[in-house]
Amino acid sequence: MGNKRWPAIIATPEMRSSYDTVIIGGGGHGLATAHYLAKNHGITDVAVLEGSWIGGGNTARNTTIVRSDYLLNASFGLKNFALKLWGELSQELNFNLMYEPRGYVDLAHSDGELEHFTIRANAMRLGGASVEILTGQALQDCVPELDLNSAARFPVAGALFQPAGGVIRHDAVAWGFARKASQAGIHIFQKTPVTKINITKDKVNSVDTPQGRINCRQVFISVAGASNQVASLAGLDLPIHSINVQAFVTEPVKPALKTVVNYNAGLSYISQTAKGEFVLGGASDGYNSFARRGSFARIEDVLARALQMFPFLSRLRLMRHWSGTADISMDGNAIIGQLPIDGLSINCGWGYAGFKATPAVGHQMAELLANNATPDLIKPFTYDRFANGAEIDDAGAGPYPWHH
Ligand SMILES: Cc1cc2nc3c(=O)[nH]c(=O)nc-3n(C[C@H](O)[C@H](O)[C@H](O)COP(=O)(O)OP(=O)(O)OC[C@H]3O[C@@H](n4cnc5c(N)ncnc54)[C@H](O)[C@@H]3O)c2cc1C
Repeated sequence: MGNKRWPAIIATPEMRSSYDTVIIGGGGHGLATAHYLAKNHGITDVAVLEGSWIGGGNTARNTTIVRSDYLLNASFGLKNFALKLWGELSQELNFNLMYEPRGYVDLAHSDGELEHFTIRANAMRLGGASVEILTGQALQDCVPELDLNSAARFPVAGALFQPAGGVIRHDAVAWGFARKASQAGIHIFQKTPVTKINITKDKVNSVDTPQGRINCRQVFISVAGASNQVASLAGLDLPIHSINVQAFVTEPVKPALKTVVNYNAGLSYISQTAKGEFVLGGASDGYNSFARRGSFARIEDVLARALQMFPFLSRLRLMRHWSGTADISMDGNAIIGQLPIDGLSINCGWGYAGFKATPAVGHQMAELLANNATPDLIKPFTYDRFANGAEIDDAGAGPYPWHH
């Protein structure tokens, strides 16, 4: 109100010809890594190179859901650690990330699916998470707006409920990490795409950008949907497919839904923002694409399922629609850690599920970059796991990317 001189949130330093560490990609993951390098390891001789603008990738295109309801120790461990960090981050960054642990409700549509959810819930409990299996009136009490009574095509058998799951303001995450890293002395450059990664004798030595060459000791790639293109700059072919994932919001109305609810027969998930809009998303478009454009088929599909859960939504109009390029690996899980080129590491393969892990990835990758040793939580996410048969297959579906 009346303040006409808002200061820039990140500094605009002169680009140096050399940094110890270069991070390619100014999304949440890259910026979180920069923050934890400074905070936990005192390392600030770092440049973050962002091809477009901070948080302009999937970080600010996602549907803001955070949770840790995964079956396998590897995926659960990393996301549950992230939930702990999310709880502390607004204070730590002095930036309101609007973390709202409203509870995440994952609907099962058959007894078999509910059985699988129960196994998952037990595994989560063993890992220290609070989680419940809800059926009947208990589920209705948890989500009063959920239509459990009319004849549905896929009736609801019950749900897995994680109270600590919820939503976080996604672009605030990018800007909160960016501001803190910049204040610590890390250089962040927007509109600076990396066009080449230079390697001599299997060791990284520099990257090229339209603004010039930057010499460096190590390079960390964290570019989500562009992972294959950027890895190919170093001559690597990743087991990653890039696909389009859409989301949309309705016009805003008064508070009508507290929890985040996911419909599993197909896929359709929904939450209501603090502004009152309903945010909806679903499965990917199912074919490789870099289009970042919507398709009516997916909108119809997601809305049909949403209306089964909440028929009152039919009276609302869709207001905005967008999409992002997600990077899917062969087992649907991330690839995090060192690549077979000295000084080159990567974080990719998060598909449409990586926002929730943002601080945990940053925390762990900072440790790897600082100590040149892979910390325990990210050890299973290796690049070579597809070659040695150690896939992290949470869905139990096998390494079939077309399931996505
Ligand atoms: C529609 C949608 C909904 C989603 N919903 C959820 C959700 O509810 N919960 C959840 O956990 N996850 C969700 N996700 C997934 C989540 O958004 C991503 O996994 C996560 O944000 C990835 O973060 P990132 O920092 O790795 O990538 P990004 O935020 O995409 O950042 C990568 C950056 O790299 C930059 N870049 C690319 N190429 C270059 C280059 N050559 N040089 C320099 N920079 C480059 C890009 O411009 C980009 O800014 C969703 C994704 C989509 C698309």
